[in-house]
This record gives sequence, structure tokens and C-alpha cells, in this order.
Amino acid sequence: MRDYIIVGSGLAGVAMAETLMSHGHSVVVFDNHSQKASMVAGGLYNPVVLKRLNLSWEGSRLMAFSIPFYRALEAKLGVDIDEKLRVMRLLATAKEQNDWFHAADQQGLSEFLVPRVEDNTNPCLEAPFGLGEVRHTGRVHTSRLLRAYRESLATAGGLREETFQHENLQVEKEGVSYQGLNARAVIFCEGFGLQQNPYFRYLPLNGTKGELLRIHAPDLKESRVIKSGVFLIPLGEDRYLAGATYSWQDKSPGPSEAAREELLSGLRKFLRCDFRVEGQQAGIRPTVPDRRPLVGGHPCLPNLYVLNGLGSRGVLIAPYAAYALYRYMEQEIPLPKAMDCGRFSKRYEKAGRHP
Ligand SMILES: Cc1cc2nc3c(=O)[nH]c(=O)nc-3n(C[C@H](O)[C@H](O)[C@H](O)COP(=O)(O)OP(=O)(O)OC[C@H]3O[C@@H](n4cnc5c(N)ncnc54)[C@H](O)[C@@H]3O)c2cc1C
Repeated sequence: MRDYIIVGSGLAGVAMAETLMSHGHSVVVFDNHSQKASMVAGGLYNPVVLKRLNLSWEGSRLMAFSIPFYRALEAKLGVDIDEKLRVMRLLATAKEQNDWFHAADQQGLSEFLVPRVEDNTNPCLEAPFGLGEVRHTGRVHTSRLLRAYRESLATAGGLREETFQHENLQVEKEGVSYQGLNARAVIFCEGFGLQQNPYFRYLPLNGTKGELLRIHAPDLKESRVIKSGVFLIPLGEDRYLAGATYSWQDKSPGPSEAAREELLSGLRKFLRCDFRVEGQQAGIRPTVPDRRPLVGGHPCLPNLYVLNGLGSRGVLIAPYAAYALYRYMEQEIPLPKAMDCGRFSKRYEKAGRHP
């Protein structure tokens, strides 16, 4: 008997599994590789929404909690996961520069925005009003993390690379059973796959497709992340990730020509050197209309939980939300209201309370 079954080993599933195991619980994790958000993510973390120059939801708190979580995982897995990277906001107009100075003076933001603007010295960048730097930023190498974590789970006999079939789950008062496997509870961390989950699909997960290009730009010689209309993330050896798009209509899993064109046009606005596209990747972000995570228990059935809705900020939110769910399940500590999926219980009533 395992303590918990976890469905999904993206950022949510990994954070949940690690949180439980580090508190002495045993888990078995299912994954069928159907969703790719965590595998393709740029993995950037920064507590500031650079488009609007405001602090993201719980920005400082998430940074303080989640970055040490990844550092501990680095030590456990023996792989480099957290890369400190400077993130620079390219300032294309006088207004953007003024907005930067104004924001850097605001309480909360001043901790993260450097109140000076750097002149651009890279001839491959068009940045007439300089670049503003965000502090305490970096990148979690999500695909590397997932591969290493799945490998460590597999070695311990805790990974099943197969589809979890919801119809074969039996839910009882004392626990759950699934094809001969008994556990205290099951936690669904299925990303956009939640739409196939009969227990939790009443939740408003709409999903936003994102795509990234991998480019080769030998003359660019940039070691910082550059944020203009798109992000440019240095990968080393003259390679960069450029992205990401946001599509609310297209929910197809693969790369699209439209996204490629959109990203190329975004890049041409500020890149003044040649580059070649080497690859393109896509994933669906598990987004929620109110932009808050979906965490908690099923409205009626015992021993069923969900950890989802990480949106476009899975890196920072996953460890924090997983810990909140752990405390809720094991210590009966209420979930922070903003992430508690109980805020949608009326939708469950409306959907006919089934199953
Ligand atoms: C292009 C792009 C760029 C992004 N960039 C960033 C970024 O820079 N920084 C950041 O913080 N976030 C970023 N994000 C967002 C981030 O990727 C997501 O918030 C996060 O990955 C969601 O993680 P998840 O575990 O909830 O979902 P997923 O990563 O989708 O994982 C769900 C897992 O569940 C499995 N699964 C589902 N159903 C079943 C089933 N029935 N049986 C078995 N397995 C199942 C899937 O195979 C999958 O592995 C980006 C997303 C995209 C698409």
C-alpha cells in the first residue's frame, strides 16, 4: 500500500511527490506523456509581470518558498536545475523608459526593479531607450528536472508510465483503490489533461497554448534574458529560446505555422542580426479565468484531490501550492482562499454533482 497516488509528473506532480516524500510519505506516480507544458516551458522565474510592470500574485512569497525547493532538489538529484540569469526588459520608447523609472520607485517593486537603465552595447539589439534589469531572476531547467525526477521515481519503483484510467478508480471512505493498488488518496496533477477527468472537469480550466522557437544566432553573443514583445532566453553555444505565444482558441498539441510567424515577427522587431530557426515546441498551459491555482479536495467524494491551474507561472507556484495542499490533507490546515478550488463549488452543483 502506498500513501498517495499522483496522476501527472509535470511541475505540479513533481512538486507534490517531492513534498509528500520529504515528509515521510510514499507515492506512486502515473504519467502517460500526453501533456507537454512542463517539458517545453521556458522555465523563467521572476516575480514581476514585465508587460504591465506590476508584482505577480504572491510574487515575493513564492520566490522565497520555491527557489529553495529547487535548490534542495538539485542536491538530491545531483543535476543543475536552477540557473541564475539576468532578465532585462528592453525599452523601445521614451514612455516605456519613464514607466520603468516610475515602477522601480514603487513599494514592493523597488526590491526587484533596478532603478537605473543600462545603455545598450549589443549591436545586434535594437534598444533605443536602453534596458531595465529585474533582480533575483533565473530559470529552472524544467525538462532536465522532470527527466531526473522521473528517473529517480522509476529507480524507487514509484513511476508508472501509463494512462491513469479514471473509470477504474474506486473511491471509499478509508481510501482509494486502482487496479489492485491501494492508497490513502489520489491527487490529480494532470495539467490541461484535467478536461478528461470526470471528477474535476467541472472546474474552469480553459487552457492557453504556448509555443517557443529554438534559434541559432551566432552573432548575437547575449548571455542575458531579453524581454521585448517576446522573451529571448540564452541556451549557450549561440542557441536561444524565443517565446512564448498565447493562444486561447487553438488547443491542438503540436506546433503551428501561425505561432512561428508571430514569433519571427516579434524577434525581427528588436534583433538586428541573422538567425536560423532550429526547432519549435508547443504545450498547453493549464490556465484558469481568475488566474489562480486550483487546489483542494472534491466537493463530495473523499480522498480525491487536485493540484492544477498553474497557468503561466508553474515554476514559482507549484512548490508553494503543493505544500499548501500537503498541509491541508495531512494537518487539516485550511488552504489559502485564493487557490482553494472550493471557490468553484457552485459550478459543481450546476453540473449536476456528477460523479
Ligand atoms: C510555451 C510555454 C512556455 C512556458 N514558460 C514558462 C516559464 O518561463 N515559466 C513558468 O513558470 N511557466 C511557464 N510555462 C507554464 C508552465 O509550463 C505550466 O504552468 C506548468 O508546466 C504546468 O504544470 P502541470 O504539472 O500542472 O501540467 P503539465 O506540465 O501539463 O503536466 C501534466 C502531466 O500529467 C500527465 N497526465 C495528464 N493526464 C494523465 C492521465 N490520465 N494519466 C497519466 N498521466 C496524465 C501529462 O502527461 C503531464 O505529464 C510555460 C508554458 C508553455 C506552454
